[in-house]
Amino acid sequence: VHDVPPVLPVVGADTLVPLVDGRQVPYANLDVAASAPALQAVADRVSRVLPLYASVHRGAGYLSQVSTALYETARRTVGTFVGARDDDLTIVTRNTTDSLNLLAGCVPADPVTGERGRVLVLDIEHHANLLPWQRVTDATVVTGGPTVSATLAEIEEELRSAAVAGRPYALLALTGASNVTGEALPVADVVAAAHGAGARVVLDGAQLVPHRRFSLAETGVDYVAFSGHKTYAPFGAGALVGRRDWLDAGTPYLAGGGAVRRVRTASTDWHEGPARHEAGSPNVIGAVALAAACDELAALDPRAAARHEDALRRRLVDGLGEIDRVEVVHVWDDAVDPVGVVTFTVSGYDPGLVAAYLSAEHGIGVRDGRFCAHPLLGRLGFDAGAVRASVGLGTAGEEVERLVSAVRSLVDEGPQARYDVVDSLWVV
Ligand code: PMP
Repeated sequence: VHDVPPVLPVVGADTLVPLVDGRQVPYANLDVAASAPALQAVADRVSRVLPLYASVHRGAGYLSQVSTALYETARRTVGTFVGARDDDLTIVTRNTTDSLNLLAGCVPADPVTGERGRVLVLDIEHHANLLPWQRVTDATVVTGGPTVSATLAEIEEELRSAAVAGRPYALLALTGASNVTGEALPVADVVAAAHGAGARVVLDGAQLVPHRRFSLAETGVDYVAFSGHKTYAPFGAGALVGRRDWLDAGTPYLAGGGAVRRVRTASTDWHEGPARHEAGSPNVIGAVALAAACDELAALDPRAAARHEDALRRRLVDGLGEIDRVEVVHVWDDAVDPVGVVTFTVSGYDPGLVAAYLSAEHGIGVRDGRFCAHPLLGRLGFDAGAVRASVGLGTAGEEVERLVSAVRSLVDEGPQARYDVVDSLWVV
Protein backbone atom coordinates (compact mmCIF):
# COMPACT_ATOMS: atom_id res chain seq x y z
CA VAL A 1 0.00 0.00 0.00
CA HIS A 2 3.04 2.29 -0.46
CA ASP A 3 1.21 4.70 -2.76
CA VAL A 4 -2.14 4.94 -0.93
CA PRO A 5 -2.72 8.62 -0.09
CA PRO A 6 -4.76 9.92 2.87
CA VAL A 7 -8.48 10.38 2.17
CA LEU A 8 -8.59 13.86 3.70
CA PRO A 9 -5.83 16.28 4.73
CA VAL A 10 -5.15 16.50 8.47
CA VAL A 11 -3.12 19.10 10.33
CA GLY A 12 0.39 18.21 11.42
CA ALA A 13 0.90 15.58 8.73
CA ASP A 14 4.33 16.99 7.85
CA THR A 15 5.60 17.31 11.43
CA LEU A 16 9.23 16.23 11.75
CA VAL A 17 10.26 14.34 14.88
CA PRO A 18 13.77 13.64 16.19
CA LEU A 19 15.19 10.12 16.22
CA VAL A 20 17.72 8.75 18.67
CA ASP A 21 20.47 8.85 15.99
CA GLY A 22 19.96 12.61 15.51
CA ARG A 23 18.02 12.39 12.24
CA GLN A 24 14.58 13.94 11.82
CA VAL A 25 11.78 12.11 10.02
CA PRO A 26 8.11 12.84 9.32
CA TYR A 27 5.97 11.61 12.21
CA ALA A 28 3.88 8.54 11.38
CA ASN A 29 0.81 8.80 13.56
CA LEU A 30 -0.47 5.25 13.89
CA ASP A 31 -2.31 6.00 17.11
CA VAL A 32 -5.43 7.44 15.53
CA ALA A 33 -7.75 5.31 17.68
CA ALA A 34 -6.47 7.15 20.76
CA SER A 35 -6.76 10.64 19.26
CA ALA A 36 -7.15 11.42 15.59
CA PRO A 37 -5.38 14.50 14.17
CA ALA A 38 -7.80 17.30 13.30
CA LEU A 39 -8.91 17.60 9.70
CA GLN A 40 -7.53 20.66 7.93
CA ALA A 41 -11.12 21.80 7.29
CA VAL A 42 -11.81 21.66 11.05
CA ALA A 43 -8.77 23.80 11.81
CA ASP A 44 -9.91 26.30 9.16
CA ARG A 45 -13.42 26.52 10.65
CA VAL A 46 -12.00 27.03 14.15
CA SER A 47 -9.79 29.90 12.97
CA ARG A 48 -12.77 31.58 11.32
CA VAL A 49 -14.92 31.26 14.43
CA LEU A 50 -12.36 32.14 17.11
CA PRO A 51 -12.65 35.93 16.58
CA LEU A 52 -16.41 35.67 17.21
CA TYR A 53 -15.85 34.42 20.75
CA ALA A 54 -18.35 35.83 23.25
CA SER A 55 -20.54 34.61 26.09
CA VAL A 56 -23.40 32.37 24.99
CA HIS A 57 -27.06 32.11 25.95
CA ARG A 58 -27.05 34.91 28.46
CA GLY A 59 -25.35 37.72 26.56
CA ALA A 60 -27.37 40.24 24.56
CA GLY A 61 -24.45 41.67 22.59
CA TYR A 62 -24.18 40.96 18.87
CA LEU A 63 -21.27 38.54 19.20
CA SER A 64 -23.03 36.76 22.06
CA GLN A 65 -25.91 36.15 19.74
CA VAL A 66 -23.56 34.92 17.02
CA SER A 67 -21.82 32.60 19.51
CA THR A 68 -25.15 31.27 20.73
CA ALA A 69 -26.28 30.60 17.16
CA LEU A 70 -22.98 28.87 16.37
CA TYR A 71 -23.29 26.68 19.43
CA GLU A 72 -26.90 25.69 18.84
CA THR A 73 -26.28 25.08 15.13
CA ALA A 74 -23.30 22.89 16.03
CA ARG A 75 -25.51 20.91 18.39
CA ARG A 76 -28.00 20.25 15.59
CA THR A 77 -25.25 19.26 13.15
CA VAL A 78 -23.79 16.77 15.64
CA GLY A 79 -27.21 15.25 16.31
CA THR A 80 -28.03 15.00 12.61
CA PHE A 81 -24.66 13.36 11.96
CA VAL A 82 -25.59 10.41 14.18
CA GLY A 83 -29.16 10.24 12.88
CA ALA A 84 -30.91 11.75 15.90
CA ARG A 85 -34.69 11.25 15.90
CA ASP A 86 -36.89 14.38 16.11
CA ASP A 87 -37.33 14.10 19.85
CA ASP A 88 -33.77 13.07 20.76
CA LEU A 89 -31.52 15.35 22.80
CA THR A 90 -27.97 16.21 21.82
CA ILE A 91 -25.89 17.09 24.86
CA VAL A 92 -22.44 18.54 24.37
CA THR A 93 -20.04 16.86 26.76
CA ARG A 94 -16.28 16.66 27.14
CA ASN A 95 -15.81 13.21 25.59
CA THR A 96 -17.20 9.66 25.55
CA THR A 97 -16.30 9.07 29.20
CA ASP A 98 -18.21 12.18 30.21
CA SER A 99 -21.23 11.21 28.09
CA LEU A 100 -21.47 7.73 29.59
CA ASN A 101 -21.09 9.03 33.15
CA LEU A 102 -23.86 11.52 32.44
CA LEU A 103 -26.19 8.80 31.19
CA ALA A 104 -25.30 6.58 34.16
CA GLY A 105 -26.85 9.22 36.40
CA CYS A 106 -30.09 9.12 34.41
CA VAL A 107 -30.94 5.39 34.39
CA PRO A 108 -34.34 5.36 36.07
CA ALA A 109 -35.37 3.14 38.93
CA ASP A 110 -37.38 0.00 38.22
CA PRO A 111 -41.04 1.03 38.64
CA VAL A 112 -41.81 -2.19 40.51
CA THR A 113 -38.85 -2.75 42.81
CA GLY A 114 -37.77 0.87 43.13
CA GLU A 115 -34.18 -0.27 42.56
CA ARG A 116 -31.99 1.59 40.09
CA GLY A 117 -32.35 -0.03 36.66
CA ARG A 118 -29.89 -2.82 35.94
CA VAL A 119 -27.30 -2.50 33.21
CA LEU A 120 -25.80 -5.33 31.17
CA VAL A 121 -22.19 -4.90 30.10
CA LEU A 122 -19.75 -7.17 28.28
CA ASP A 123 -16.16 -7.77 29.26
CA ILE A 124 -14.91 -6.34 25.95
CA GLU A 125 -15.59 -2.78 27.01
CA HIS A 126 -13.24 0.14 27.38
CA HIS A 127 -13.28 1.18 31.04
CA ALA A 128 -15.28 4.26 30.03
CA ASN A 129 -18.19 1.96 29.25
CA LEU A 130 -17.75 -0.30 32.26
CA LEU A 131 -16.83 1.76 35.30
CA PRO A 132 -19.71 4.28 35.15
CA TRP A 133 -22.14 1.36 35.23
CA GLN A 134 -20.17 -0.55 37.84
CA ARG A 135 -20.34 2.51 40.06
CA VAL A 136 -24.04 3.30 39.91
CA THR A 137 -25.75 -0.02 39.28
CA ASP A 138 -25.07 -3.70 39.79
CA ALA A 139 -23.51 -3.94 36.34
CA THR A 140 -23.42 -7.52 35.17
CA VAL A 141 -20.58 -8.47 32.89
CA VAL A 142 -21.25 -11.22 30.41
CA THR A 143 -18.00 -12.79 29.33
CA GLY A 144 -17.90 -12.63 25.58
CA GLY A 145 -16.61 -15.24 23.16
CA PRO A 146 -13.81 -14.36 20.75
CA THR A 147 -16.13 -11.92 19.00
CA VAL A 148 -19.34 -10.30 20.09
CA SER A 149 -21.04 -11.68 17.00
CA ALA A 150 -20.21 -15.12 18.40
CA THR A 151 -21.58 -14.09 21.79
CA LEU A 152 -24.89 -12.72 20.60
CA ALA A 153 -26.81 -15.80 21.72
CA GLU A 154 -25.31 -15.43 25.23
CA ILE A 155 -26.36 -11.80 25.38
CA GLU A 156 -29.87 -12.61 24.19
CA GLU A 157 -30.20 -15.38 26.75
CA GLU A 158 -29.02 -13.17 29.60
CA LEU A 159 -31.49 -10.42 28.64
CA ARG A 160 -34.34 -12.87 28.20
CA SER A 161 -33.82 -14.88 31.37
CA ALA A 162 -33.46 -11.71 33.47
CA ALA A 163 -36.77 -10.43 32.07
CA VAL A 164 -38.48 -13.77 32.76
CA ALA A 165 -37.09 -13.80 36.30
CA GLY A 166 -38.69 -10.41 36.92
CA ARG A 167 -35.33 -8.59 37.08
CA PRO A 168 -35.20 -7.11 33.59
CA TYR A 169 -32.28 -5.03 32.43
CA ALA A 170 -33.00 -1.36 31.84
CA LEU A 171 -30.01 -0.90 29.58
CA LEU A 172 -27.45 -2.76 27.52
CA ALA A 173 -24.20 -0.78 27.36
CA LEU A 174 -22.15 -1.86 24.40
CA THR A 175 -19.27 -0.62 22.34
CA GLY A 176 -19.91 0.06 18.66
CA ALA A 177 -16.39 -1.07 17.73
CA SER A 178 -13.70 -2.50 19.99
CA ASN A 179 -10.64 -0.35 20.66
CA VAL A 180 -8.59 -3.55 21.01
CA THR A 181 -9.68 -5.86 18.21
CA GLY A 182 -11.42 -3.34 15.94
CA GLU A 183 -14.48 -5.58 15.77
CA ALA A 184 -17.57 -3.60 14.71
CA LEU A 185 -20.61 -5.05 16.41
CA PRO A 186 -23.77 -6.37 14.78
CA VAL A 187 -25.72 -3.38 16.04
CA ALA A 188 -29.08 -4.24 14.50
CA ASP A 189 -29.07 -7.76 16.03
CA VAL A 190 -28.06 -6.44 19.42
CA VAL A 191 -30.78 -3.80 19.38
CA ALA A 192 -33.42 -6.36 18.43
CA ALA A 193 -32.32 -8.62 21.32
CA ALA A 194 -32.31 -5.79 23.86
CA HIS A 195 -35.59 -4.22 22.80
CA GLY A 196 -37.20 -7.65 22.73
CA ALA A 197 -36.37 -7.96 26.43
CA GLY A 198 -37.44 -4.41 27.29
CA ALA A 199 -33.92 -2.98 27.58
CA ARG A 200 -32.58 0.14 25.94
CA VAL A 201 -29.18 0.25 24.22
CA VAL A 202 -26.40 2.75 24.66
CA LEU A 203 -23.62 2.49 22.14
CA ASP A 204 -20.11 3.59 23.01
CA GLY A 205 -19.46 5.10 19.61
CA ALA A 206 -15.90 6.29 20.33
CA GLN A 207 -14.35 3.91 17.79
CA LEU A 208 -17.36 3.51 15.52
CA VAL A 209 -18.69 6.97 14.75
CA PRO A 210 -15.43 8.31 13.26
CA HIS A 211 -15.11 5.29 10.95
CA ARG A 212 -18.58 4.16 9.89
CA ARG A 213 -21.79 5.97 8.99
CA PHE A 214 -24.02 5.50 12.03
CA SER A 215 -27.68 6.44 12.57
CA LEU A 216 -29.77 6.24 15.72
CA ALA A 217 -32.96 6.41 13.69
CA GLU A 218 -31.92 3.61 11.34
CA THR A 219 -30.49 1.23 13.95
CA GLY A 220 -32.95 1.93 16.77
CA VAL A 221 -30.05 2.44 19.20
CA ASP A 222 -31.35 4.58 22.07
CA TYR A 223 -28.18 6.51 22.99
CA VAL A 224 -24.80 7.05 21.42
CA ALA A 225 -21.71 8.58 23.04
CA PHE A 226 -18.61 9.71 21.18
CA SER A 227 -15.55 11.96 21.37
CA GLY A 228 -14.49 14.88 19.19
CA HIS A 229 -10.79 14.12 19.53
CA LYS A 230 -11.28 10.70 17.94
CA THR A 231 -13.54 12.19 15.26
CA TYR A 232 -10.88 14.46 13.69
CA ALA A 233 -11.69 17.47 15.88
CA PRO A 234 -9.53 18.81 18.73
CA PHE A 235 -9.78 17.72 22.36
CA GLY A 236 -12.48 18.99 24.67
CA ALA A 237 -15.88 18.26 23.16
CA GLY A 238 -17.89 15.09 22.75
CA ALA A 239 -21.57 14.26 22.65
CA LEU A 240 -24.33 12.18 24.12
CA VAL A 241 -27.32 11.87 21.80
CA GLY A 242 -30.49 9.96 22.48
CA ARG A 243 -33.90 9.57 24.04
CA ARG A 244 -35.22 12.56 25.87
CA ASP A 245 -37.25 11.02 28.71
CA TRP A 246 -34.42 9.59 30.84
CA LEU A 247 -32.30 12.68 30.26
CA ASP A 248 -35.08 15.10 31.15
CA ALA A 249 -35.90 13.22 34.34
CA GLY A 250 -32.33 12.38 35.40
CA THR A 251 -30.21 14.14 37.97
CA PRO A 252 -28.59 17.19 36.35
CA TYR A 253 -25.03 16.15 35.57
CA LEU A 254 -23.47 19.38 36.78
CA ALA A 255 -25.09 21.80 39.21
CA GLY A 256 -24.67 25.44 38.28
CA GLY A 257 -25.66 28.36 36.09
CA GLY A 258 -27.52 27.72 32.86
CA ALA A 259 -29.08 24.45 34.02
CA VAL A 260 -31.83 26.09 36.04
CA ARG A 261 -35.08 27.95 35.44
CA ARG A 262 -35.45 29.38 38.91
CA VAL A 263 -33.37 29.15 42.07
CA ARG A 264 -34.30 29.95 45.64
CA THR A 265 -32.02 29.41 48.55
CA ALA A 266 -33.71 26.16 49.51
CA SER A 267 -34.93 24.73 46.21
CA THR A 268 -34.23 24.75 42.50
CA ASP A 269 -36.30 24.29 39.39
CA TRP A 270 -34.06 22.59 36.80
CA HIS A 271 -34.34 22.94 33.04
CA GLU A 272 -35.25 20.07 30.82
CA GLY A 273 -33.43 19.55 27.52
CA PRO A 274 -29.69 19.72 27.00
CA ALA A 275 -29.29 22.74 29.29
CA ARG A 276 -30.20 20.54 32.29
CA HIS A 277 -26.86 18.73 31.95
CA GLU A 278 -24.68 21.54 30.58
CA ALA A 279 -24.26 23.90 33.55
CA GLY A 280 -21.43 26.40 33.28
CA SER A 281 -20.13 28.22 30.23
CA PRO A 282 -20.19 25.79 27.33
CA ASN A 283 -17.35 24.77 25.04
CA VAL A 284 -18.52 26.72 21.98
CA ILE A 285 -15.31 26.31 19.98
CA GLY A 286 -15.18 22.60 20.81
CA ALA A 287 -18.77 22.11 19.66
CA VAL A 288 -18.14 24.08 16.45
CA ALA A 289 -15.01 22.02 15.76
CA LEU A 290 -16.87 18.77 16.34
CA ALA A 291 -19.68 19.93 14.05
CA ALA A 292 -17.14 20.87 11.38
CA ALA A 293 -15.68 17.35 11.57
CA CYS A 294 -19.19 15.90 11.31
CA ASP A 295 -19.83 18.02 8.19
CA GLU A 296 -16.63 16.74 6.58
CA LEU A 297 -17.35 13.10 7.40
CA ALA A 298 -20.96 13.38 6.25
CA ALA A 299 -19.77 14.68 2.87
CA LEU A 300 -17.49 11.66 2.30
CA ASP A 301 -18.48 8.52 0.48
CA PRO A 302 -18.62 6.17 3.49
CA ARG A 303 -17.65 3.14 1.40
CA ALA A 304 -14.55 4.85 0.05
CA ALA A 305 -13.49 5.83 3.58
CA ALA A 306 -14.06 2.30 4.91
CA ARG A 307 -12.19 0.80 1.94
CA HIS A 308 -9.19 3.04 2.64
CA GLU A 309 -8.99 2.04 6.28
CA ASP A 310 -9.61 -1.58 5.49
CA ALA A 311 -6.80 -1.74 2.92
CA LEU A 312 -4.37 -0.31 5.48
CA ARG A 313 -5.66 -2.59 8.24
CA ARG A 314 -5.31 -5.68 6.07
CA ARG A 315 -1.78 -4.73 5.11
CA LEU A 316 -0.91 -4.39 8.81
CA VAL A 317 -2.48 -7.73 9.68
CA ASP A 318 -0.77 -9.50 6.76
CA GLY A 319 2.58 -7.72 7.01
CA LEU A 320 2.93 -8.08 10.77
CA GLY A 321 1.52 -11.60 10.64
CA GLU A 322 4.37 -12.71 8.34
CA ILE A 323 7.07 -11.66 10.79
CA ASP A 324 8.44 -14.39 13.08
CA ARG A 325 7.77 -13.74 16.76
CA VAL A 326 4.89 -11.34 16.03
CA GLU A 327 1.45 -12.35 17.22
CA VAL A 328 -1.48 -10.32 15.91
CA VAL A 329 -4.63 -10.25 18.05
CA HIS A 330 -6.73 -11.39 15.15
CA VAL A 331 -9.99 -12.47 16.71
CA TRP A 332 -12.42 -11.40 14.02
CA ASP A 333 -13.70 -13.13 10.98
CA ASP A 334 -14.65 -11.32 7.80
CA ALA A 335 -18.24 -10.96 8.94
CA VAL A 336 -17.44 -8.46 11.69
CA ASP A 337 -16.12 -5.71 9.42
CA PRO A 338 -13.41 -4.38 11.75
CA VAL A 339 -12.32 -0.75 11.91
CA GLY A 340 -8.66 0.18 11.45
CA VAL A 341 -7.20 -1.15 14.70
CA VAL A 342 -4.50 -3.84 14.82
CA THR A 343 -3.14 -5.08 18.14
CA PHE A 344 -0.01 -7.24 18.34
CA THR A 345 2.89 -8.41 20.47
CA VAL A 346 6.51 -9.20 19.62
CA SER A 347 7.71 -12.11 21.69
CA GLY A 348 10.81 -11.37 23.73
CA TYR A 349 10.07 -7.64 23.83
CA ASP A 350 7.92 -5.79 26.32
CA PRO A 351 5.12 -3.87 24.51
CA GLY A 352 6.42 -0.67 26.11
CA LEU A 353 9.84 -1.27 24.64
CA VAL A 354 8.38 -1.97 21.20
CA ALA A 355 6.46 1.32 21.33
CA ALA A 356 9.53 3.23 22.57
CA TYR A 357 11.69 1.66 19.83
CA LEU A 358 9.16 2.55 17.11
CA SER A 359 9.13 6.14 18.30
CA ALA A 360 12.83 6.65 18.99
CA GLU A 361 14.26 4.76 16.00
CA HIS A 362 11.51 5.21 13.39
CA GLY A 363 9.37 8.23 14.34
CA ILE A 364 6.24 6.08 14.54
CA GLY A 365 3.59 6.73 17.21
CA VAL A 366 1.62 3.71 18.47
CA ARG A 367 -0.07 2.86 21.75
CA ASP A 368 1.04 0.17 24.17
CA GLY A 369 -0.44 -1.23 27.36
CA ARG A 370 -3.84 -2.65 28.07
CA PHE A 371 -5.83 0.07 26.31
CA CYS A 372 -8.18 0.74 29.27
CA ALA A 373 -9.71 -2.68 28.60
CA HIS A 374 -8.14 -4.83 31.30
CA PRO A 375 -10.83 -7.53 31.39
CA LEU A 376 -10.60 -8.15 27.63
CA LEU A 377 -6.80 -8.12 27.49
CA GLY A 378 -6.77 -10.59 30.39
CA ARG A 379 -9.24 -12.90 28.70
CA LEU A 380 -7.31 -12.82 25.42
CA GLY A 381 -4.13 -13.77 27.31
CA PHE A 382 -2.41 -10.37 27.08
CA ASP A 383 -2.21 -9.45 30.74
CA ALA A 384 1.24 -7.99 30.12
CA GLY A 385 -0.24 -5.68 27.49
CA ALA A 386 0.22 -5.38 23.75
CA VAL A 387 0.99 -2.80 21.05
CA ARG A 388 -1.79 -1.18 19.04
CA ALA A 389 -1.47 0.43 15.63
CA SER A 390 -4.49 2.27 14.29
CA VAL A 391 -5.26 4.13 11.10
CA GLY A 392 -7.77 6.66 9.85
CA LEU A 393 -8.65 9.02 7.04
CA GLY A 394 -5.40 10.94 7.38
CA THR A 395 -3.16 7.86 7.28
CA ALA A 396 -1.01 7.24 4.21
CA GLY A 397 -0.11 3.72 3.08
CA GLU A 398 3.57 4.59 3.34
CA GLU A 399 3.19 5.02 7.14
CA VAL A 400 1.80 1.51 7.46
CA GLU A 401 4.69 0.12 5.38
CA ARG A 402 7.12 1.94 7.67
CA LEU A 403 5.62 0.21 10.69
CA VAL A 404 5.80 -3.24 9.14
CA SER A 405 9.44 -2.82 8.13
CA ALA A 406 10.36 -1.28 11.50
CA VAL A 407 8.92 -4.26 13.37
CA ARG A 408 10.77 -6.58 10.98
CA SER A 409 14.05 -4.76 11.77
CA LEU A 410 13.38 -5.12 15.48
CA VAL A 411 12.93 -8.85 15.13
CA ASP A 412 15.89 -9.30 12.74
CA GLU A 413 18.41 -6.91 14.28
CA GLY A 414 17.13 -5.93 17.73
CA PRO A 415 16.91 -2.32 18.94
CA GLN A 416 19.87 -0.05 18.18
CA ALA A 417 19.55 1.92 21.43
CA ARG A 418 19.17 0.79 25.06
CA TYR A 419 15.77 1.35 26.67
CA ASP A 420 15.02 1.52 30.40
CA VAL A 421 11.85 1.86 32.38
CA VAL A 422 11.72 5.06 34.41
CA ASP A 423 8.52 5.93 36.27
CA SER A 424 6.61 3.33 34.23
CA LEU A 425 7.81 4.87 30.94
CA TRP A 426 10.34 3.34 28.57
CA VAL A 427 13.06 5.84 27.82
CA VAL A 428 16.18 5.75 25.64
N1 PMP B 1 -14.59 3.94 24.46
C1 PMP B 1 -13.71 3.47 23.57
C2 PMP B 1 -14.07 2.26 22.76
C3 PMP B 1 -12.49 4.11 23.42
O1 PMP B 1 -11.60 3.65 22.54
C4 PMP B 1 -12.20 5.25 24.21
C5 PMP B 1 -10.88 5.97 24.12
N2 PMP B 1 -9.77 5.17 24.04
C6 PMP B 1 -13.16 5.70 25.10
C7 PMP B 1 -14.35 5.03 25.20
C8 PMP B 1 -12.94 6.90 25.96
O2 PMP B 1 -12.87 8.04 25.19
P1 PMP B 1 -12.53 9.43 25.86
O3 PMP B 1 -11.19 9.25 26.49
O4 PMP B 1 -12.50 10.38 24.72
O5 PMP B 1 -13.57 9.71 26.85
